[in-house]
Amino acid sequence: STRIVLASRPDGTPTPDNFRTEVVDLPEVGDGQLLVRVVYLSLDPYMRGRMSTAKSYAAHVELGDVMVGGTVCQVVESRAAGVDVGDYVLAGAGWQSHAVVDAAAVRKLDPQAAPISTALGVLGMPGFTAYSGLLKIGQPKPGETVAVAAATGPVGSAVGQIAKRKGARTVGIAGGPEKCRALTEEFGFDVALDHRDPEFAKKLKDAVPEGIDVYFENVGGAVQDAVWPLLNTYARIPVCGLVAQYNGVVEERADRLPGFFSSVLTKSLTIRGFIQTEFVKEMYGDFLRDASAWVRDGSLKYREDIVDGLENAPTAFIGMLAGKNFGKLLVRVSPE
Ligand code: NDP
Repeated sequence: STRIVLASRPDGTPTPDNFRTEVVDLPEVGDGQLLVRVVYLSLDPYMRGRMSTAKSYAAHVELGDVMVGGTVCQVVESRAAGVDVGDYVLAGAGWQSHAVVDAAAVRKLDPQAAPISTALGVLGMPGFTAYSGLLKIGQPKPGETVAVAAATGPVGSAVGQIAKRKGARTVGIAGGPEKCRALTEEFGFDVALDHRDPEFAKKLKDAVPEGIDVYFENVGGAVQDAVWPLLNTYARIPVCGLVAQYNGVVEERADRLPGFFSSVLTKSLTIRGFIQTEFVKEMYGDFLRDASAWVRDGSLKYREDIVDGLENAPTAFIGMLAGKNFGKLLVRVSPE
């Protein structure tokens, strides 16, 4: 099996040297276990956190260990009842070509119901993050304005489309004209704005004459700065991600916490961080039912950015943190 391990910890932006490729023998398949071939590996922003030892909600990857990651796999050998050779499963096999996994830790996928890759995107963890964070914390109401950045990504694109379903006016923020075109033409946002435009803050202000009621926080940074003064009284801010600061490059500036707390008080803001796992028990069933139906009837659109070959995972991952991906980033480790 070929695998990519964490070779060293990044200082700031990760580089390809932080990763190392190895070829290893796999352990025997034990009772209740499966040997799987990885078909798709999901690359996600949270992996940057796992590369560091900074305290987080999840354990970091040890040096020399395989990089973690969600995968769609095909079963090559089974020693578990109910899972057959040839079945497709959702598993956490990480950055490797093959793995031995516990059958109890996988979920079988039905390739007839939806393309198997969607289990890592629109019908998987990122889709669920959008669904749970928006509906549980954001609670958009008809006529309200909802803003989200990283809006062509798997989380942001679903946030916009679900908010629209709830009758909200949606403002999508993304990097570059091509992504902005997709926001309105593919994903149905009412407004598309480019955060790299020097006039971004002014254009955002002009685009939301009635202010912003829900800001689904995916990025932090300059987008957050531009959104903040436009929040309405009783605005809700599900804090989902801060990808602009994951590489630890945060610019020095005056302490703005007092001003920030003033607006929390005077505008009665609800700011609520969340990790999607919190809502799995309560909402995953509803999510799969709703999102599967919406994907099937074509009303929930998704976009995938598929990179071929496990060896290209590090570069693709590093690029994603800078916005080089266009849609849910996946590595095709082996053919379907
Ligand atoms: P994406 O595929 O959208 O990739 C990240 C995107 O972030 C890039 O493509 C880029 O898009 C954008 N970006 C990077 N730097 C900046 C910046 N400085 N300013 C504005 N945008 C920037 O990722 P996902 O959809 O998978 O994830 C979106 C967010 O959701 C992340 O913050 C992630 O950590 C978070 N998340 C949180 C979960 C939770 O449980 N809380 C679970 C899953 C995801 P562009 O080119 O448009 O700028």
